[in-house]
Amino acid sequence: MNTQLEQLKTEILSCQKCELSKTRNHVIFGEGNEHAPIMVIGEAPGADEDRIGRPFIGRSGQLLDKIFAACGFTRNEHIFISNIIRCRPPGNRTPTPQEAEICMPWLTKQIEVIDPKIIILLGATPLKYLAGPTHRITRERGTWLKVQDRLAMPVFHPAALLRNPNLKRDTWEDFKKVVGKYRELVDANHYSAHC
Ligand code: SF4
Repeated sequence: MNTQLEQLKTEILSCQKCELSKTRNHVIFGEGNEHAPIMVIGEAPGADEDRIGRPFIGRSGQLLDKIFAACGFTRNEHIFISNIIRCRPPGNRTPTPQEAEICMPWLTKQIEVIDPKIIILLGATPLKYLAGPTHRITRERGTWLKVQDRLAMPVFHPAALLRNPNLKRDTWEDFKKVVGKYRELVDANHYSAHC
């Protein structure tokens, strides 16, 4: 891990800036390639993540890994995964605006240090906090936005795909756009067996 990210990780793992520090088991720093060209941002850790200490490892994470694989992406090589907040809200509730506001500077620093070319916003919460409160996932999924001076693609959260499999078709179209942009910006020879 590069020195800046290592230092950031040390700071984040001991963070007690909000009340969630009192109920968490693990702070979920994030995971993936420290120089990842693609950063994937979700909402918050869930029960499995809090127990194990890694992001996106439950059913949603497994589905996300399948989508990455179909795109020819792996967590270790192409992606760094993070969240709007780094500690689990009790009962998996949505983070409060105050919690998001307190935790977001950590994410901003991660984006600066990792310096991705493309950001994928998983669902309504990262869209709201990174693009602005007027944005709607149902309206804007699949369209490129600018987030912190980078290209960002909002897509449905994998948990939404598990609840409603009809959303998978649109989501695959959105990820195909990400693969196309990756070939344009990062690696023209990027291989995917599916797109
Ligand atoms: S949620 Fe964020 S701000 Fe709150 S304690 Fe965890 S790392 Fe710190």
